Amino acid sequence: MNAHDSERIAGLFEADGMVPTDSLDEADVVVLNTCCIRENADNKLYGTLGHLKSLKDKRPELEIVVGGCLAQKDRELIQKKAGHVDVVFGTHNVHRAVELLDAARTSGPLTEILDEAVLDDNELFPTLLPTVREIDYLAWVTIQIGCDNNCAFCIVPSVRGTEISKPFGTIVDEVRQLAASGVTEVTLLGQNVNSFGRDIALKLRGELAESDIDPVEAAGARWAEDRRARSLFADLLREVGAVEGIRRVRYTSPHPKDFREDTIAAMAETAAVCEHLHLPLQSGSDRILAAMHRGYTADRYLAKVAAAREGIDDLALTTDVIIGFPGETDRDFHDTLEVFAEVGFDAAYTFIYSPRPGTEAAEMTDRFVDHAVSVERMNQLRAVLERSSRQRNEARIGRIDEVIVEGPSKRNPELLTGRTRQNKLVHFASPEPIRPGTYALVEITGASLSNLAGELREIVHVPTHRTRIPLLATS
Ligand code: SF4
Repeated sequence: MNAHDSERIAGLFEADGMVPTDSLDEADVVVLNTCCIRENADNKLYGTLGHLKSLKDKRPELEIVVGGCLAQKDRELIQKKAGHVDVVFGTHNVHRAVELLDAARTSGPLTEILDEAVLDDNELFPTLLPTVREIDYLAWVTIQIGCDNNCAFCIVPSVRGTEISKPFGTIVDEVRQLAASGVTEVTLLGQNVNSFGRDIALKLRGELAESDIDPVEAAGARWAEDRRARSLFADLLREVGAVEGIRRVRYTSPHPKDFREDTIAAMAETAAVCEHLHLPLQSGSDRILAAMHRGYTADRYLAKVAAAREGIDDLALTTDVIIGFPGETDRDFHDTLEVFAEVGFDAAYTFIYSPRPGTEAAEMTDRFVDHAVSVERMNQLRAVLERSSRQRNEARIGRIDEVIVEGPSKRNPELLTGRTRQNKLVHFASPEPIRPGTYALVEITGASLSNLAGELREIVHVPTHRTRIPLLATS
């Protein structure tokens, strides 16, 4: 989500006539888009601002802008701690970044943090902003902002606000425009994508009779037929997957409690939707899941995984897990190990719990787990995970997988790297250079813990996007 916000901020400044640079020494404006979900975000921000202060002491014309969710959380504190910052803005007023910098030039340093998203007069969603995408054939599409859940470890609800879904028709139009510009893969983004559109459906049911809102534009043609109070995510997957030119649809993140049969059916029946499900588990202990306010048990999670595997052929499963959440006992951790062993994940993001100031769990100091204990548990979990990751990768040997070519391998530039529909990296040789964004069939010939090796069989689609040539200098 933050990376996509960075693209939108870059898009706004470029639309205002600025040119990007990789060199801090050349920059006239530095924008730091912060993320307080990351560990040590505060230290990193204030450390970077300290470095920028020495630059600004040498070049007083350098302008410094801080946005993102740490700015939303810290607000005026940033300018108190770092008086050389020109502008601080929050997560709900990204669209005002350029305007705020202009204002700061005449009136001096300023902070603008809004507590709610700014809505268009006639829409339910913040204005669409110009975007600079780093990769021409892939695009993120925000479908929802905010989150209505209250996971005890998470700062998102307090810095991103309540859930607001982008209108259905707006998203589909955006994907059509992306496809027309050569994008072939889109990732739908939201904090809890499985509840996408529930707010729209509820609003429309209340207002439709006396309003002139077009239900198909706001909620899609399928909803207009049944008009039930329900999530629109499965409908959206089908509609986005049907856009001409879109070969792959991914999404992140779903919440297990809201992940339902209709999404499984849409994934199975929509050819473009990739066979990859990232379903954050967080813990395998019912006691810890309850303390986290996750809204499901380990058994319910396992039932959803079983239903997804039953419904979707060749599905890869990945997850997130937190080790050492306050109060986690050996028994609780053992439950997590059991879920990992039973599911056999393809991969997982594993985190040792670290408190995020402002969250409920950060107050549970009397139940914090000793760090050495968490590290030991993490090692045990990784051993279980590595077994399943390796097995799942080895099981692909001999298959022909379609990959989208990303470019030369980072480890061995003589090889190319591609990504399968299951989100696995494959390294392979090609007698000819192949443009990033090309789709190719590759026979899988080897597997390791984290990637695959293959042999090129056939090019199936060449990209149509134009290659951007970086601007190195202007006169
Ligand atoms: S679902 Fe939970 S973890 Fe995800 S953004 Fe919402 S509060 Fe945070």
